[in-house]
Amino acid sequence: MCDVQDVLNRHISDTGEELTFNRLRGDVECCRNKPMLIEIDTMPVGMSGYVVSLRDVDLICINPDLDEILRQIVTLHEMSHLLLDHVMDHIDDGSVPTYDEFKRNRDVQSIMCREYNDAYDTATEQNAESLARALLRSILRRRDTTPSFARDLYE
Ligand SMILES: [Zn+2]
Repeated sequence: MCDVQDVLNRHISDTGEELTFNRLRGDVECCRNKPMLIEIDTMPVGMSGYVVSLRDVDLICINPDLDEILRQIVTLHEMSHLLLDHVMDHIDDGSVPTYDEFKRNRDVQSIMCREYNDAYDTATEQNAESLARALLRSILRRRDTTPSFARDLYE
């Protein structure tokens, strides 16, 4: 497990580069040493998303009923679980399915990190959520501070 502030510093302050969703995604893939897929997928009512570590990829799935901003928040929450080392990488673990095997019968109930509509009741969930919100603030920062009519001037 990693500390939220450490992870945040590593991905925001160290580089001086502007944080974008794609750069963060690259950082996650680099930390985890495997590709990350993000999919919209039907799931039980009340579940907003999940992340599962498969042998060849990390897979994040988001409930199709969420609006755009909630999809972003849930995706960042799942990415935070990966960045905080809440999920083992399972590389070379023959007992863990590959993406193709998982897709055949998505056994959602067996997945450890599943999100249910804002039920962040454990320390693990609270940490993932506070990292996700800090990352989102950082990604949105420029858009927050520049009035929309003037945004093009600063591109
Ligand atoms: Zn979570």
